Amino acid sequence: MIDKILQQQIEYYRARANEYDEWFYRVGRYDRGEENNQRWFNEIAIVKDALHKIGAVDDILELASGTGIWTQELLGIGKKITAIDASEEVIAINRSKLDSPSVAYYIFDLFTWQPDAEYDLVFFAFWLSHVPPNLLNAFLTKVNQSVRVGGQIFMIDSRFEPTSTANNHILENDGNIYKNRKLNDGQEFRIVKIFYQPDELQEKLKQAGFQAEIKMTDNYLIYAYGIKV
Ligand code: SAM
Repeated sequence: MIDKILQQQIEYYRARANEYDEWFYRVGRYDRGEENNQRWFNEIAIVKDALHKIGAVDDILELASGTGIWTQELLGIGKKITAIDASEEVIAINRSKLDSPSVAYYIFDLFTWQPDAEYDLVFFAFWLSHVPPNLLNAFLTKVNQSVRVGGQIFMIDSRFEPTSTANNHILENDGNIYKNRKLNDGQEFRIVKIFYQPDELQEKLKQAGFQAEIKMTDNYLIYAYGIKV
């Protein structure tokens, strides 16, 4: 069953490529009202500041890079970005937005991808929550293999917050890792969505060889900065 859901998850983001930024920028059905939207953007700004504190590095690997919302931030940090995603549609949007010779794009399924290089920084946003628990250790092992010793990881994800998702889906932290998601045209998909608590995330990263500091913003985000030890 999990294989089918992971395939649906890929199909969902492929079909959602042109709508994805509406969620991040709180457009249309993702509009949560001025106050909540302002909170969201303020919290995103806090995380961006934390990311930029890393300072300049040479090589960055971005996993599940999506439409480029974070790739454009990474361009301000790294000399070279390698961006991987399973969806050619989001990669096309990312490429057309950034139009940068410093970004190399690859279409891979991260569950079958094998790392073949080491980077100064490995980054992933809103991705770990889509990795099913039985594949988490294997994924984090690949992250570890992709970071040079002394290199860094930075990740961002959703913390459990009932108003952060599409307004036709009220989140319930019912322990069910599978959630339904609808596109603007009504098409429905089933995906994996897991909300981590800071201690749990820190422990998982520790087991994967990272000394990490986990922070949460007031409402929406959990983020981690770690060093490979
Ligand atoms: N990191 C981007 C951001 O924060 O804007 C995108 C996050 S989006 C929630 C999840 C991304 O994971 C999508 O771009 C989707 O195409 C990608 N994805 C889904 N399943 C994948 C898989 N098996 N391998 C690689 N990427 C996958």
